[in-house]
Amino acid sequence: MRVNIEIDKDSGFCNGVVRAIRTAEQNLSNPGELYTLGAIVHNNSELDRLGKKGLKVIDLEQMSKLSDTTVLIRAHGEPPSTYELAKERNINLIDCTCPVVLQLQKKIADTSGQIVIFGKIGHAEVNGLVGRAEGRAVVVENLSQINKVDFSRPVNIFSQTTKDPDEFEQVCSKIREKMHDPAQLTVHNTICRQVAQRHSRLSAFARNHNVIIFVSGKDSSNGKVLYELCKQNNERSYNIQSLKEIDRSWFKPGDSIGVCGATSTPKWQLTSCARFLKISLKNYICSKFYSIIYGNYSRF
Ligand code: SF4
Repeated sequence: MRVNIEIDKDSGFCNGVVRAIRTAEQNLSNPGELYTLGAIVHNNSELDRLGKKGLKVIDLEQMSKLSDTTVLIRAHGEPPSTYELAKERNINLIDCTCPVVLQLQKKIADTSGQIVIFGKIGHAEVNGLVGRAEGRAVVVENLSQINKVDFSRPVNIFSQTTKDPDEFEQVCSKIREKMHDPAQLTVHNTICRQVAQRHSRLSAFARNHNVIIFVSGKDSSNGKVLYELCKQNNERSYNIQSLKEIDRSWFKPGDSIGVCGATSTPKWQLTSCARFLKISLKNYICSKFYSIIYGNYSRF
């Protein structure tokens, strides 16, 4: 089957993830164990690759039982309580909190009054931000949750760095509408610039192709947002975690196929996906002919 395949040049790890992974790899050559608090990236293939090099993923409970060791803090950042725990347990921290997230944490810590964080409840970055607000923050995931806000008091609203800019704007306008004094709403647009730029470029990329293969771990918050964006711009968008999920019935002869991913998707995974599509779709006619004769039809 003749198809055209293009990899989105803007997809792949964001700077924060690149920095965290590079630091982990540099430190893996040192003697002793290296742990990461939570998955360093929401991508199982990349986690397997780093796991083979010795990186061990732990949660907070496991960390509280460790001592005299090294733990890496990923790009999402952590609340102050994690730093206190590390001190108590004599744990050496390698802090890979993304500089953009660090700035946001500082801004929240320096802001007084009611704080609203537009983000995913329980997400590591959001937990870190809530920790900085010392009990003054409410987290709003979507429009249906804005009634958590006290509209009679001044509001400072911040966004998780990977949220959808349009959705953030909608949430801010709705809160403004409901405020007793709309002038008391201060909007801090803290969506990461790298993410915001990807939104507009990815929309165009999705529209320019017949089929979109979006490669991303299903736990990636940014992956969910960007995949939704692809879907809005191109109905024939498919989110896959591994090549095994690709189905031949998604493609037609002459299709132009776009391969893209989230800020947690490594470039090597996009390249191997494109290579796989190229080889398997090219061989499809042969394999179909073979399957008609021998009755051994498979997806490709
Ligand atoms: S998305 Fe932006 S803010 Fe978040 S880790 Fe990546 S570079 Fe940093």
